[in-house]
Amino acid sequence: MSKGLLIVLSGPSGCGKGTIVQEILKDGDCAVSVSATTRSPREGEVDHVRYHFITKEEFERRIAHDGLLEYAEYCDNYYGTPRAEVEAIRASGKHVILEIEVQGAFQVRERCPEAILVFTIPPSIAELRRRLEKRGTESAEVVEKRIARAQEELPLAKHYDYVVLNDALEDAVADFRSIIRTETMRPNQIDWNRLDWNL
Ligand code: 5GP
Repeated sequence: MSKGLLIVLSGPSGCGKGTIVQEILKDGDCAVSVSATTRSPREGEVDHVRYHFITKEEFERRIAHDGLLEYAEYCDNYYGTPRAEVEAIRASGKHVILEIEVQGAFQVRERCPEAILVFTIPPSIAELRRRLEKRGTESAEVVEKRIARAQEELPLAKHYDYVVLNDALEDAVADFRSIIRTETMRPNQIDWNRLDWNL
């Protein structure tokens, strides 16, 4: 059995990454990595589902013990990917999706050159603002911070392997699915022993 792919999905907060991932998870061949964060849970967010909510002290302890594959500070909070979780998913043969911001994405590329970096973009900043406001989970001040951050991040999309426009959700999901499908056709992903070639 070949190891699962390591897929990084970035894109401005509110651009619909989470929704795309939820749709892809229904296919059954991917799992999403549960990040650690020092951010407070939003209403309805359950610990250990999308995030492990931990203190700043615990986060810094994990950095010191090299327990994180990558981490970054984003809008005054730490976010990071637990290394062991990612490895366990890949070893099981499933593809792992890391839904992370750009600084973390580039750290992953450095440490794991086989990682596939995908950037989701909203059709416009105005649409991003509309989606963030509609979500209604952040104060006006935090929305502004996230939009400012999006404007810094968008030019970095050029350095990713793939860019997916998230205008109509079903198109974005289809595009993301086809990236995964294409990447599984690389020779290092093929389980050669399973082929009956009679050689
Ligand atoms: P939110 O607070 O909206 O859940 O996430 C804020 C940003 O942090 C998003 O862009 C999200 O993709 C990113 N993020 C979530 N988990 C991680 C992580 O483990 N590492 C990094 N570098 N970014 C993360």
